[in-house]
Amino acid sequence: MIEVNDLTKAYGDTVVLDGLNFAVDSGEIFAVVGPSGAGKSTLAQCINLLERPTSGSVVVNGEDLTRLSYKQLRVARRRIGTVFQSSSLLSRRTAAENIALPLEYLGVTKGEAERRVRELLDRVGLTDRANAYPFQLSGGQRQRVGIARALALRPSVLLSDEATSGLDPQSTSSVVALLRELRDDLNLAIVFITHEMNTVLEIADSVARLDRGSIVESGRLVDLLTDHASALGRDLQPRRL
Ligand code: ATP
Ligand code: MG
Repeated sequence: MIEVNDLTKAYGDTVVLDGLNFAVDSGEIFAVVGPSGAGKSTLAQCINLLERPTSGSVVVNGEDLTRLSYKQLRVARRRIGTVFQSSSLLSRRTAAENIALPLEYLGVTKGEAERRVRELLDRVGLTDRANAYPFQLSGGQRQRVGIARALALRPSVLLSDEATSGLDPQSTSSVVALLRELRDDLNLAIVFITHEMNTVLEIADSVARLDRGSIVESGRLVDLLTDHASALGRDLQPRRL
């Protein structure tokens, strides 16, 4: 599980995250929504400690990552897998070679890496595309390769920043279905950042709305949807076309 406690991030005098608190249990998908500039990506960067929080803590499986030395952090960070929008795959590497990258950095033997990559390709449903280059894959397939790469080091937390943004509805649904499957099969705690309300409806167990660096509303999705006083619940109602 992951806990974020009183997390604050400021750049100079500009406070971008202002005292955030939330926890995501294993086997849960926690969606973070909010307008452009709300601080969603900054939150993602602070969670995996690519940015140092100004104050507060990020606790994964009981260990506070913000208190670790650089060397300890390099190891602890393996517990968090990250997927971004357009997944930043290396264009000169095949799907299988992209997934193998984190294993190579770690010095995993070639045979072990190959076995693990096969397992991951199977998990994301791309066994038949192992040798395809990113340009030969659809947007949804590229994101699934990105997810497989994020899982290579067996994290317990998966962090997704706009992983479905820019995908067509069908590819979005396939990525959403995969993430739900991973939540259940691997018991992952998933932090799913998006600005798309309809995707939240499909994926989230709980939701928080971030606005100008603060969580302005949060709760279980089912509760929000039935709470007539909730502005977030209203915004999440399925839209009739
Ligand atoms: P979007 O939906 O457009 O992706 P976001 O919610 O992810 O937006 P962030 O990228 O986290 O928003 O940015 C939040 C605020 O922090 C913005 O006002 C941005 O300009 C500011 N910001 C982000 N990174 C830095 C930085 N390195 N230095 C200064 N300000 C920054
Ligand atoms: Mg962003």
